[in-house]
This record gives sequence, structure tokens and C-alpha cells, in this order.
Amino acid sequence: MSTETTTAGWSRESCLQADERDPLAAFRDEFVLPPGVIYLDGNSLGVLPVGARERADAVITREWGTDLIRSWNTNRWFEMPVRLGEKIGRLIGGGDGACAVTDTTSVNIFKALSAAVRIQAAADPARRVIVAERDNFPTDLYVIQGLVSSLHGYDIRLIDDRDGLAAALTDDVAVTLLSHVNYRTGARWDMPAVTAQIHAAGSLVVWDLCHSVGAVPLDVDGSGADFAVGCTYKYLNGGPGSPAFIWSAARHLAGMTGPLTGWWGHRDPFAMAVEFAPAPDARRLLVGTQPIISMATMEVGLDIALRVDAAALREKSIALSTLFIDLVAQRLGDHPLTLVTPADPDARGSHVSYRHPEGYAVMQALIDRGVIGDYREPEVLRFGLTPLYLRHVDVWDAVEHLRRVLDDELWRDPQYARRGAVT
Ligand SMILES: *Cc1c(COP(=O)(O)O)cnc(C)c1O
Repeated sequence: MSTETTTAGWSRESCLQADERDPLAAFRDEFVLPPGVIYLDGNSLGVLPVGARERADAVITREWGTDLIRSWNTNRWFEMPVRLGEKIGRLIGGGDGACAVTDTTSVNIFKALSAAVRIQAAADPARRVIVAERDNFPTDLYVIQGLVSSLHGYDIRLIDDRDGLAAALTDDVAVTLLSHVNYRTGARWDMPAVTAQIHAAGSLVVWDLCHSVGAVPLDVDGSGADFAVGCTYKYLNGGPGSPAFIWSAARHLAGMTGPLTGWWGHRDPFAMAVEFAPAPDARRLLVGTQPIISMATMEVGLDIALRVDAAALREKSIALSTLFIDLVAQRLGDHPLTLVTPADPDARGSHVSYRHPEGYAVMQALIDRGVIGDYREPEVLRFGLTPLYLRHVDVWDAVEHLRRVLDDELWRDPQYARRGAVT
């Protein structure tokens, strides 16, 4: 590894010194980090918390294996979606509203948008447009398309960039769906200001927090948000496919019914009534039986996140992303890498992305060297800088590996052009 010092004064040694001063350094020991790997993909699939193995064993061996169906009561399985939802509510600054851990983000987007559309239809039936970002994560767009096709007279209106929002917010807009942090570019909306802008135009707003929760300080109550959804397998380290969450502002909960009315959302599911009657509280955000094992192991990562000081987390996240951007600029300036993430730290989340004409092969060559990031069309290399378990020295080493891949054109090896089903 290089021992040089950059023009901004960074060296491997100074990165190690920054790690010694890091107030969050001890959190690294709470995760299983495979040797020889620098993991820069915690924004796509978080790592395994040490405690999750033990929790998985307990929920499988004792709660399922021995206690069996009694566990719904004795091990409080039945309360889990709402009990964990309260924890997420605290994490996102949404303690005044109602939150449940349940389903997938895609399904929760459908539930939140449907509720918003119904609330608006009762107040002003002329509002029949759903505004969204063209470069949002595709599932968000697909869910809107599905919802619009099942309604009558509704339309989707896509904005091409941030400046397009104001013009899109005409008096026919029912609801606006935005990702707080963009999955590809890492660009972050100013949630309180944009929520106010959307409300001023008479629209409700659903915030997708997939790339924010666990990485960026959030205050959905204070921001005046209407609904929020997000996943737990990214920065919350909940495990592959761990259930997502849905949050509703207190003022909307009463209007939040259907169309996915399942028995877990019923006021008294075990009355086995013929007619649906929604639960008065966060239970109405549920549909059916929940994945208890996955939820149990997810709680371990969530509990870690709740112990972290949000300001310190954000400070380290910005330090790491700034370091990455500076090192690439100073040490890889000759290569065709274009930063697509905002240079202003206030305008980004916790990942950094670059375009490179051979982005896919470059990422495969990098992964082969133990630096795991990912690739998103078109040509985008994505590096997740999770402040809970990454060190400054990991950023230094990752950029050095990237330098080798590019300087020595290691990406030209034909094996790096082959594509798997998941990029
Ligand atoms: C990761 C992600 C999702 C994932 O949705 P699932 O239904 O959990 O697969 C949705 N939206 C955004 C913005 C994401 O980043």
C-alpha cells in the first residue's frame, strides 16, 4: 500500500490517526466483517450483527422448536410488528405518529399511496395526479403505475430533476412520492423545506427512507411528513429480505384504510368476524401474518442503531464520503471518473457514486480484490460508506485498490464483463 501523502494532507497514517479519534469506533466490534473484505455495500445489504446469530438460534430452537404456537403469546410474536414499529418510529423522529414493521417497501409504498389518494379524494376529488421522480428506484415507479392502472382517472407525473418539482405541483396533484436519498446519485432532499413546498401546493407527501434510515438523521414529525416507508436490510443491518416499515402521521391514521385490508389489520382478528373493522392504532398498517424469524434477527441491528448518536453518525458519514471524494480527485484525477453525487455534503446521503464508461467491469475487478461496492445502470459505480463499521483507513485502502484497477487496467480481463442476475 502507498505511503504517499495527498495534497490535502491525507496519508494512510493520518487515516489511522483519524480512526483512533473516532467516537463510533467501538461499534465495529458488534458486526461480523469477513477478513480481506472492505465492504462498501451496506446501503444495499447491511452486514451481520454479532448478536443476530444468537437471536436466530433462540427464535428458531426455543421459540419455534419448543414453544411452538404458544409463542404468539408467550414470546410476544403477535406484538412484534408494532413493538418494532415503535422503535423505528423513535429512530426516524416519528414518535407522534404510528409505525409498524411489516411487508416489503414496495407493498408499503402501495399502502401509503393508496391511503393518501383516498384521503385526498374525500377532500378534493379533482386531485388525481401522483408526482414522482423519473430517477427514483424503479419499484417506487412500478407501484405507482400499478396503483394508477387500478384506479379510474388517475395519472402519474414524473419530474426529471429537483428543479422540476415546483412546476409539477399544480392543483390537480393528490400525492407526491420522493426518495429522501436517491439510490443512484446519493442526492438528498431537504425534507422539512420540500414537505412544506408540497403541502403549500395542496399535495400530500410520502417519503421513501430506504437510503436514509440508519445513516442520516431523520425527523418525520418535525418535518411535517404525511407518510414514510423504508427498508431495514440496508443501513439497519436487518438481514436479507428483513421486513420493511410504514409510518403514518397521527393526523392521517384514522383515514388510513384499505385497499389491502387483511386480518392482521382488524380491530379484533381472533373474533373471526365477517366484516372488516380496522384496528384503531398502528395495527391497522398490517395486512397478514409476519415473518417472525426475520423480524427477530432484524431487531438486533435496529437496537444497535438506536444506541448511536445521530449527530456523531452523520458527522462520520460526511467525513468518510468527503475523504473518498477528495482521495479520488487527488489520486485518480487522470481517469474518466465523473462524480454523480453532490459535492456539497449537506446535499448527500451516505454513499458516493461515479460514472465510468467501463463501470461494470471496473466494479467486478474491484470486488475481486475484496472491495465490495456495486454497480447501477447506467455506468454507475456505487460506494456505500456506512459510518457504523467503516474506518477512514478502509476508505484509503479502497481508493488505492481502485487506483490499481484503473492504472493497471485490470478491468480489461474478459471475466469482468460477465454479468450475474444481480448487479
Ligand atoms: C431498496 C429500495 C427499495 C426496496 O424495495 P423492496 O420492496 O424492499 O424490495 C424500494 N425503494 C427504494 C428507494 C430503495 O432504495
